[in-house]
Amino acid sequence: MKIFLTGGAGYIGSVCTEQLLNEGHEVAIFDNLSEGHRRAIDPRAQFFEGDLAHRDQIETALASCRSDAVMHFAANALVGESMQNPSKYFRNNISNGLNLLDAMIAAGVRRIVFSSTCAIFGPPDRMPIDETASPRPISPYGESKLAFEKILRWYDEIYGVKFVCLRYFNASGATEKFGEDHRPETHLIPAVLKVALGEKPNLEIYGTDYETPDGTCIRDYIHIVDLARAHILALGATASGFYNLGTGGGSSVREVIAACRKITGRNIDTIEKPRRPGDPARLIASSEKIKSELGWQPQFQSLDAIIESAWKWHEKFPRGYAE
Ligand code: UDP
Repeated sequence: MKIFLTGGAGYIGSVCTEQLLNEGHEVAIFDNLSEGHRRAIDPRAQFFEGDLAHRDQIETALASCRSDAVMHFAANALVGESMQNPSKYFRNNISNGLNLLDAMIAAGVRRIVFSSTCAIFGPPDRMPIDETASPRPISPYGESKLAFEKILRWYDEIYGVKFVCLRYFNASGATEKFGEDHRPETHLIPAVLKVALGEKPNLEIYGTDYETPDGTCIRDYIHIVDLARAHILALGATASGFYNLGTGGGSSVREVIAACRKITGRNIDTIEKPRRPGDPARLIASSEKIKSELGWQPQFQSLDAIIESAWKWHEKFPRGYAE
């Protein structure tokens, strides 16, 4: 298939591009390089430098591509930043996404796989979180992704756009070539590994008074190769749908730090800080639906395996994608 992929210079988009190409698909990337990196673009992919905020740019690129499906990764994705700057999140994640959908209609592309998030749920009533849980986002980031999921339902009903929304829990890990390099880095695993590399003096732990066994937040860390696999399976889905994607297990911030100390063999200093606004205490996925409907199975079940792959990438590219 030919896939038109927004955000292919970013962390998850770059790995998904790599896996699609490895499986013999063609990929055209559309990215404005605001968050992503030119060096994260797989050289085998076609590349359009453009911005979803400019409808003409996305329309022209899509019209020239004759793609079978769109994968939409391009977005802002930081809970904390969205609490400071909600407008950026509503504009980029909703309005710009609408430009993409309208360009798809104009180009006759009727299939999309959308990068959604567990942040649409907010504090859950029960754990693990399955697809019947009520979405009650507690950040503009989660709200913006939920809004786009709702818009997709209407584009399916009115225009017949088939969609699969994949609600990622905590994407992590790396392949040999592609890994996580955000500027600034706010995600836990790469932030801890930067301390191990000596690039940061210490790791700030955001909140030690949560109602969890060790007082720190628990998240479900899922390897990006497993996420990429889910996207490829989603291309074959016969009906539109929403799927939660995690491993079904959770690790606390302190457990992640301990695993990083063990795997890197380095000292990792920490300091305790107040809670970060917008962070629920525990988020763990049930992925039974995607397993039974699309045949998805995660290969990376352990936190250690995920961190080992990330550490290999960080050791090989200590400055990330910087020249
Ligand atoms: N976290 C932390 N220190 C950091 C980065 C993250 O304590 O430097 C915590 C954060 O508060 C959350 C968890 O680690 O409880 C995972 O955060 P991340 O930003 O990686 O992912 P999120 O769950 O926000 O998508």
